This record gives sequence, C-alpha cells and structure tokens, in this order.
Amino acid sequence: MIEVIEPATERVMAEVPRAGAEEVDLAVARAKAAYPAWRAVRPGDRASLLRRLADAIEAEADQLATLEARNAGKPIGDAQGEIAMVVECFRYYAGAPERLLGQTIPVAAGVDMTFREPLGVVGLIVPWNFPLVIASWKLAPALAAGNTVVLKPAELTPLTALELERIALDAGLPEGVLNVVAGPGSVCGARLVEHPDVAKIAFTGSTEVGRGIAAGAAETIKRVTLELGGKSANMIFADADLEAAAAAAPSAVFGNAGQDCCARSRILVERSALERFLEALEPAVKAMRVGDPLEESTEMGPLISAGRRESVAEFVPDDAPVVFRGSIPDGAGYWFPATVLAPVSNSDRAAREEIFGPVACVIPFADEAEAIALANETIYGLSGSIWSGDGARALRVARAVEAGVISINSNSSVRVTTPFGGFKQSGVGRELGPDALSHYTELKNVYYATEEG
Ligand code: NDP
Repeated sequence: MIEVIEPATERVMAEVPRAGAEEVDLAVARAKAAYPAWRAVRPGDRASLLRRLADAIEAEADQLATLEARNAGKPIGDAQGEIAMVVECFRYYAGAPERLLGQTIPVAAGVDMTFREPLGVVGLIVPWNFPLVIASWKLAPALAAGNTVVLKPAELTPLTALELERIALDAGLPEGVLNVVAGPGSVCGARLVEHPDVAKIAFTGSTEVGRGIAAGAAETIKRVTLELGGKSANMIFADADLEAAAAAAPSAVFGNAGQDCCARSRILVERSALERFLEALEPAVKAMRVGDPLEESTEMGPLISAGRRESVAEFVPDDAPVVFRGSIPDGAGYWFPATVLAPVSNSDRAAREEIFGPVACVIPFADEAEAIALANETIYGLSGSIWSGDGARALRVARAVEAGVISINSNSSVRVTTPFGGFKQSGVGRELGPDALSHYTELKNVYYATEEG
C-alpha cells in the first residue's frame, strides 16, 4: 500500500494500493482493448461525453479541491482555482473532436487530403505539485483526439487522479478509456515508457527524469512531450511601476510554496531601482499568510515532503545573503519560510539550479542588454516576466528572451486557451491551446487518383 501523507500535519491521510509493472501491463492492455471503439465514437458523441465529464468534475469540485489542498499542502483557494481549470480544460477540448480539421492540397491527377488521427494508447506521467490540473492538460486533448490513456500520478499525490477515474466512469466514459495506476515512477513510469503498446508519453516533472524518458522512449520510437524544469526571470526595469512589480513578485515565486516550474525565482532588477524595489518587496513578503492549507486566507502552505524541505534548505546555508524572510507556523508540517537572497550572482548555485521551494534570488543588472543576457544565461527556458513602462522595450525584450511563455507587466503563465511549454532544457512540445492537439494525433496524407497517369 502507498501511505499518502498530508504535508501540513505529517499524518497519513489515506492508503491506496501500490501498482507495479504487472498492473501497468494490465492497464495498457485495457486501454488497448478500449481503443478501437473509442476512436470510432462519433465526433459529436465524444464531445458530449467530454462535456458530461466536465460537468461531473464540476459537481464534485469542492470535494476534489479539499482533497488536493490536503494532499499537496496547497492553499484551498489555489486548489479551487485548479479544479475550476480542470473543468475549463475538459470543456475547451470538448470542442476538438468536431474540429480536428485536415487539409486538401492541390496535386496532379487526383485529390490529396490530410487527416488528424489518434495515436492509440498514451501514457501520462504527472508530478505532485499541481496533480489533477496538470493531468487534465494532457488527458483532455488526448481523449478528445480519440486516444485511450494510462495515467500515472506521483506516488505522493495519487488521490485526485483516482477520484477522477471513478468520476469518469460514472459520467459514462467507457471502461478502459481512462486507466489510473498509482505506483512509483521508477517502476510504473519506467514500464509505461518501455511498453511496446504505448504510442506516446506525455510527461511533466524534473529535467533529469525527462532526459531518461526521452532516452527510454527512443527504443520504441515513441512520441514524447516533456514539460520540465525552469529558472525563470522576473525582469524589473527602473521605468516600471515598482509598487505593482513588488506587490506581484511574491506570488510569482512563492506561489505553491515555490514548487512551480514557472516560478519567477530569479528576480532581475535594474540596479538604479534595486533599493526602492527591495523596500517595497519586504512588506509584501512578510505579509504573506502561511499556514493551514484549508484556511481560506492562507497564501502559502508547506512543502510536499521532508525530503523536499531538506533539498530546499541546502540552497540557504548559514552564510547565504538572506535579506529578509517570511514566517512559518510552529509544530508539525514541512514548512519553509519565504526567503529572499540579495544580491546574488547569476553564476551562484542558487541562481542556476531549480530550487523548487520558496527561495528567490535578486540579481541586479545595469541595462537592457545585460538583463537579456542574464535572463538567457540558463539551461532552462520555460517562462518569464518583464515589468517596464516602455511598451516597445518590453516587447523587444520579450522577443529576445529564450523562453516559451512570457508576460509583460504581469506574472501570469497558464491559460487553457494559449500554448504553454519550454525552450531549451525546459521541454519539448506545447500543452494547452489549439497546438496541443497536434501532439496527440498523427498526420495522415491520403492521395486519391481521379485520372490516369
Ligand atoms: P520527478 O521528475 O521524479 O517526478 C515526476 C513524475 O515522474 C512522478 O510521477 C514520478 O513518479 C515520475 N517518475 C520518477 N522517476 C521516473 C522514471 N524513472 N520513469 C518514469 N517516471 C518517473 O520529480 P520529483 O518529484 O523527484 O521532483 C524533483 C525535482 O523535479 C523538483 O525538485 C523539481 O526541480 C522538478 N519538478 C518539476 C516539476 C514541473 O512542474 N516541471 C514537477 C515536479 C518536480 P513518483 O513520484 O511516483 O516516483
């Protein structure tokens, strides 16, 4: 059995059966058996089923949000927002079965047409930081395109995925179309990656594991999409609304206790504005309400595990340049205070590696060219923000930064309707928006001869 821990109390909140390679094989066999009928469901009927599933998730949204808040240790308000996004995601991709359009291409002596066809059985491997919502970004387009799915949640947070499997069956999704296997990544995830009947792996997690998945998938030439780590820059120019930038910066890096691949964990500040920015940032960090995830007013919860807390603490040794920190509750729970390091050099370990905890590095820069160079001096390229009162400059910098998702005078990263994913070692492929569907379909070309020769 897997003992599922509640990070805010360190207590076991549930036990679920631990799957192994054998269960993965059974799940893949079920998904394979369900595939021919699922891909043959009429587009309008598949759309209706996905809408029914969205409605069924919405009907249980409070229960799912509470489960997610407790199991992942995230503030209940955030968890509610995530479940609302799950619903929105299924509704958005419910429009897809009837819109998987092909092309007709002018050719000699015939008609040429293209079709978007499903891949078959798709393996989804998702992490513990945003368990159900990240699953939905993969699941909704995969199912909409006519694939069947084996979903492996992280062992730390399997509960909402297991609930989703039940909800989907109740909503009328045919048996075998969605299969959830809860078990360790090194066993269940690895088996999915090597399984000859799995056509594609969609993964979110660490760059290290992603690298292994890409290598493993090469054996059977599986399609792979990867959403990996980040070390994103929050670039603040002296001509920005500094109050607004400082007020928004804490949630951009400390949201989800910093366990967010999009965390703006490098705050690049134009040197002439550094002092004013830090003065505005300090009260915003200290005012963050850290505590019980189920309390409505909580803005930051604990880290996911004791191990994660140890890893984060390594980045804040006794001689670290801590300028100020937030507070944490006493007692049980994997708490870590919001911590701001300044000034940090971009070559320091804390500025290079993904900390995945509530630690921000403030890095000063002299001018626009240096800001761009620093932002790009990383193996990652997921997201980033630019705060400036000069629109032309903001757009110029946005084009120069090597990252998949940039926001100007905002720290937003993810919307159901727009593409999300990374440059460089932050990943391969895009989730969400219209483009995600291309990663769950093959393009087939059919030529029909209408004349001889
Ligand atoms: P992992 O990459 O190990 O976990 C992500 C998922 O992959 C989990 O479901 C995990 O399963 C599974 N997995 C683990 N090993 C394998 C494998 N060999 N083959 C297939 N699947 C596997 O992340 P961690 O939880 O270890 O976190 C470590 C670091 O990863 C963090 O510090 C952070 O830097 C980064 N990370 C990035 C995320 C993102 O959103 N991009 C999300 C999570 C982590 P299981 O956990 O059940 O073993």
